[in-house]
Amino acid sequence: MQHLFRSIPALDKLLKTVQGQQLILQFGHQAVVEQIRSLLAQIRQEIHQTHALPDICQSNEFLLNRVEELLSKKKNVAIKQVFNLTGTVLHTNLGRGLWSENAIQAATQAMKHNVALEFDIEAGKRSHRDHYISQLLSEITGAEAACIVNNNAAAVLLILATFAQGKEVIISRGELIEIGGSFRIPDIMQQAGCKLVEVGTTNRTHLKDYRNAITENTAFLMKVHTSNYQIQGFTANVSEEELVALGKEFNLPVMSDLGSGSLVNMQALNLPAEPMVQDKVLSGVDLISFSGDKLLGGPQAGIIVGKKSLISQLQQHPLKRVLRCDKVILSGLEATLRQYLFPEQLTHSLPTLQLLTQKLDELNQKAEQLKASLYKQLDSRYILQIEPSLAQIGSGALPTEQIPSIAVTISSANQRDLLELEQQFKNYPNPMITRISQQKMWLDLRSVGQFDELLEMLNEN
Ligand SMILES: *Cc1c(COP(=O)(O)O)cnc(C)c1O
Repeated sequence: MQHLFRSIPALDKLLKTVQGQQLILQFGHQAVVEQIRSLLAQIRQEIHQTHALPDICQSNEFLLNRVEELLSKKKNVAIKQVFNLTGTVLHTNLGRGLWSENAIQAATQAMKHNVALEFDIEAGKRSHRDHYISQLLSEITGAEAACIVNNNAAAVLLILATFAQGKEVIISRGELIEIGGSFRIPDIMQQAGCKLVEVGTTNRTHLKDYRNAITENTAFLMKVHTSNYQIQGFTANVSEEELVALGKEFNLPVMSDLGSGSLVNMQALNLPAEPMVQDKVLSGVDLISFSGDKLLGGPQAGIIVGKKSLISQLQQHPLKRVLRCDKVILSGLEATLRQYLFPEQLTHSLPTLQLLTQKLDELNQKAEQLKASLYKQLDSRYILQIEPSLAQIGSGALPTEQIPSIAVTISSANQRDLLELEQQFKNYPNPMITRISQQKMWLDLRSVGQFDELLEMLNEN
């Protein structure tokens, strides 16, 4: 076996070749040396196991081509673009929504340049990073002020930590939600050091339940939008208006976690109803929190709007410094919110609303095109059809509220063929993420952001 080991090219020799020198220029000495060493170690191990010289040792060129390939791979970003054909428009595992063009431009500008983040240009003095967004949100929602943090989970944590540390928060048993990624209201309460006082039963909670639970240690009354499930049948819950009236009686604020929330009337767009932030402000709720990257259609952020005195306490809490957003997110969020000043254009300007409101005949046309492209790629084992399907908003919006959609379905006599195809789709330069159900693969057109890019990729492969 010694002669096999002696046939492995030496590191210095490889480095001195023209190709080796080019690699050093491209990737730097250290990275090239490390990559060659690791490849040579692999080769030695293979010789131990197989007692044969691996093919790659045929020539220096072969070996260095492999080194180049491995080094190039290291530059590829693993969080790469995928095509969302799952039918879930805001898919948390796929990064939720797509930003509007304006938001992308604003964020890109903030990445490349210095921006007036905490600077009042006219007055020439320091200002606050949430200032412009707070003004915009007041204009849009009617609230007095706003505070922006990393996400809505952080918003809830900040509210609890600021106003209820060591105190009690009253909440209905029917609203003790868990959403994906282990966000559970009781756990967040514990993290914030406050005591959860559950009132009512799972299906019914009355105003008197809240009233009876109020003690001198109560910090506030809390509502949580049960975004991802519905209690049906013999039910009762207390509206924000009633809670606000009760709160006034005892001088207690009312907080509401809306989850997604919306700044537009979803029903007017023929979509499932979602509580509107403006309505909660009108109801007199003191603090309202919601996500930046659910139905709002912007970057990941947690938005809190409400009474000025309470917002300024949130702004002064040390946790706010921990949870604050950077210039890129704040620029993207501001640009997203500015679109809401032009409400008629929202279904064009915001990709999330555009996808959700796409007409079925448009989706049908896209399905025809997708089917034609796929037809050229798939062998005769597969049967392609265009079928009506049901899409959903996702990200905690009611999974029971489905939106009519169109899908290309792929079936085969053998179920294993579908799994093979799923793998093939994942191996594309930009993987296609699909859904298998009822023994078919579903490629739902409603959730696809860049349809033209998808066709282009399929036609090139
Ligand atoms: C989604 C959701 C959250 C968490 O929001 P993120 O922005 O994802 O952190 C909190 N509460 C409710 C009711 C939600 O639906």
